[in-house]
Amino acid sequence: MEINLEQFKNIMLAMAQSIKDNVSYLTELDARIGDGDHGVNMEKGFKRIAWKVEQTEAQDIGQILIESGKVLLNEIGGAMGPLYGGGFVKAGTALKGKKILDKKDIATLFSLFLDSVKFLGQAKVGDKTMVDTLEPFVSKYREQIKDNDIVTSFKAGLAKAKEGMQSTRNMVSKVGRSSRLLERSRGHIDVGAASSYLILETFYRKIKDLKVQDESS
Ligand code: ADP
Ligand code: MG
Repeated sequence: MEINLEQFKNIMLAMAQSIKDNVSYLTELDARIGDGDHGVNMEKGFKRIAWKVEQTEAQDIGQILIESGKVLLNEIGGAMGPLYGGGFVKAGTALKGKKILDKKDIATLFSLFLDSVKFLGQAKVGDKTMVDTLEPFVSKYREQIKDNDIVTSFKAGLAKAKEGMQSTRNMVSKVGRSSRLLERSRGHIDVGAASSYLILETFYRKIKDLKVQDESS
């Protein structure tokens, strides 16, 4: 199974929808140990990404990721603009020219997204950030694609991402705004870990549907 340009665009649009459906959940999480802007910033950012994806004349997936990342970098505030935006641009640059993504390209996409977040934010696993969701996903997915197809590998990775997201509940924040709360940051899931999980979960849902279509055609 592979993902073509049209299918990839649909995945990006589904991400925007999923963020929109979860704005109040994200707002609530960020309000507990942050400033409450993450849901609204994510919604605004992904709404603009959806607009860009629908308008773009770009004929390759890398270019679409770069354009999407630039929207976030240029227009969206908070930590998410640079972190998500930088991640999309880095992944897109590596995938420039691709009209189809196979399972290795998807590993490239998420590995480079993670590398960019870690490079820009200097957070590691255990610091209570989106890295706690993304890193376990990437490790598991990369290990799984050696023997399995995209959907099976993604499902295994997603289970690890969920554990990672949930593990942030008991962590003390080491970076970003919530780190100012020190010990009081414990007891709540990190909002960036939650939004990253939503992105991965949406990606999984869409590729699972594609696999079903493939098999029935
Ligand atoms: P802000 O904290 O500026 O209001 P957001 O609310 O958009 O930013 O995003 C907060 C999320 O960003 C956090 O929950 C965390 O997951 C992530 N984050 C913040 N700083 C960093 C960092 N240095 N490295 C990785 N992720 C970070
Ligand atoms: Mg915030």
